[in-house]
Amino acid sequence: MTADEAKNSMIRNQLEGRGMVDESVLRAFRVVDRLLFVPEGLARLAYADEPLPIGYGQTISQPFVVAIMTELLGLDKTSRVLEIGTGSGYQTAILSTLAREVVTMERIKELHESAKKLLDSLGYSNVRAVLGDGYGGYPDAAPYDGIVVTAAPPSIPEALLTELAPGGRLIVPIGTAEQMLVRVMKNKKGELTSENIFPVLFVPMRHG
Ligand code: SAH
Repeated sequence: MTADEAKNSMIRNQLEGRGMVDESVLRAFRVVDRLLFVPEGLARLAYADEPLPIGYGQTISQPFVVAIMTELLGLDKTSRVLEIGTGSGYQTAILSTLAREVVTMERIKELHESAKKLLDSLGYSNVRAVLGDGYGGYPDAAPYDGIVVTAAPPSIPEALLTELAPGGRLIVPIGTAEQMLVRVMKNKKGELTSENIFPVLFVPMRHG
């Protein structure tokens, strides 16, 4: 199987096969190649249905989880997005193809630097990669139409709710041993509603 065939079968089996129909998200998965974002030694697992280690005790998320979180954001070409937990930069690249602008934060310097270098070299010019603790979000570029957190805090960081634009959506895994993927929506009046999506397992969100 060629890399392209492996990527297409990942999209067919893991995404479409699980009921994902959002054509713009599926297209983003066709355009962005996960192989470029996994460590060289794990190339054979680049399209596997699982998270993979990327060093420093962190992981690149399972493709399906990246897809669902992205779909839940409901992005279009006018959207401004904040991602907390750049990691490999894979989800950043997916978001970059769907949105107008992406700010992505990572607290581990080495991961921040390698993801930034890779995203720059691949021409993702609407991405701003920031080194730092995303627990307080990134107020400098707020408000955001979408905020996605790819590490789990014990409860929703208040700052992220503040930085959400009216009509905006926050997707975040909440919990410690047991985690739930949660979507918070802010309506035009600024009122918040929240819904549980399904149980997940992310690396913990560090604070400080
Ligand atoms: N979306 C990434 C997921 C990486 S794992 C990918 O698919 O590759 C989650 C990342 O969140 C880790 O790299 C971890 O270092 C980072 N992280 C954890 N707590 C953070 C915080 N408070 N601020 C910024 N990044 C954080």
